[in-house]
Amino acid sequence: MEFSRDFAQQQDKQDILRKFRWEFYFPLYDFIGSFKADVLYFTGNSLGLQPKSVKNAIDFELKKWANEGVEGHFKGEMPWKDYHIFLREDLAYLVGSDTDEVAPCNSLTVNLQLLLISFYQPKGKRTKIIMEGGAFPSDQYALETQVRLHNLNPDTEIIEIYPRAGEYTLHTEDILAKIAEVGEELALVLFGGVNYYTGQFFDIEKITQKTHEVGAIAGFDLAHTIGNLPLKLKDWNVDFAVWCSYKYLNSGAGGVGGMFVAKKHHNTNRPRLAGWWGYDAGTRFQMKKGFVPEPNVDAWQLSNVPILLLASHKEAIKLFKEANMEALREKSKKLTAYLQFILEKINEEKNLGFQIITPKNPEERGCQLSIFIPENGRELFDFLTEKGVITDWREPNVMRFAPVPLYNSFEDVYKLGKILREF
Ligand SMILES: *Cc1c(COP(=O)(O)O)cnc(C)c1O
Repeated sequence: MEFSRDFAQQQDKQDILRKFRWEFYFPLYDFIGSFKADVLYFTGNSLGLQPKSVKNAIDFELKKWANEGVEGHFKGEMPWKDYHIFLREDLAYLVGSDTDEVAPCNSLTVNLQLLLISFYQPKGKRTKIIMEGGAFPSDQYALETQVRLHNLNPDTEIIEIYPRAGEYTLHTEDILAKIAEVGEELALVLFGGVNYYTGQFFDIEKITQKTHEVGAIAGFDLAHTIGNLPLKLKDWNVDFAVWCSYKYLNSGAGGVGGMFVAKKHHNTNRPRLAGWWGYDAGTRFQMKKGFVPEPNVDAWQLSNVPILLLASHKEAIKLFKEANMEALREKSKKLTAYLQFILEKINEEKNLGFQIITPKNPEERGCQLSIFIPENGRELFDFLTEKGVITDWREPNVMRFAPVPLYNSFEDVYKLGKILREF
């Protein structure tokens, strides 16, 4: 690898996915006076860019609403009453499942709470939850309040796994050992697929396997994983998962989330919170008393779905199959390796004193790299922002960069390096 424009451009030329960049709008920034330039966008892990095609997709539904009113529920190629079904195939592709195991609905934390009602069922000795230490706060609050719902104490029931002294990320063997240790007291393991802060990709398959060995349930929050890494939830035997659509899935701020429930849990009498959109679709409109669940993941839906958000979501996720997740992953590994190379080079050259806390092993990360900066972190972040580089800052001293293979280029990374050199 080389820190040169030539090298970066050469890589871009060889990139079979480079055309996807033109499917997206890049925010503009005031370069000099009235001259506008695209920003260097490295925040697809927080809010993915807007695909140019979503406007038409939303317009289409707006027109349908204007022209057909309530008839839109039943008319056209994609009647609104069945709209969620039209996203199943692409979602199943993204998580590696059957189509009746995935549903786009609600938002991430709502889905997590709904599925925890079904899948966190403390009984007798089996009451404990294992999660990664420093998980995204919403997940912490969800688990804390679920434990309280059962009149148990979160301080004793929730076990968080933290890195070894002096380290930033977890060893799979430590996670597995903790699961084995808690053993028959374990009710649930709820882990991120990729940790939002460190960018560490956890071994979902091994964690699930060990969890099942001790007789507990394995659930995952895929907010930073879906669209970032190829997934095989079905092969990995995962029990349930949730995600949001506005990060790597590029479906728009506050967009609709999604859930996966493994087939073996369909048609069981686990407790749940129900609504009419989870009712058996064949007889739903008879409006009868007594809840009859759909025989698939849709049983966990509550409300009819937000069509405008789903129109955007549907359009945005088409791109992943077109690009192919394995091809994206290949590019992602190269692009992130290049970012690592550039960051390490400049760090040394300029003595910036930061440390990459994301695992160096490409198998243990997606596209994001997080750096820990003991000093001047905020200044560096502000400097980059001033220069039109969009990254993100997590208190107290972490900056996250996500070169997204669907729309970032090697030249983006090169330019970032050039700007860092000016700091
Ligand atoms: C982004 C993110 C959330 C956000 O939750 P919403 O319900 O979509 O607001 C939750 N958990 C994790 C791990 C996240 O990365």
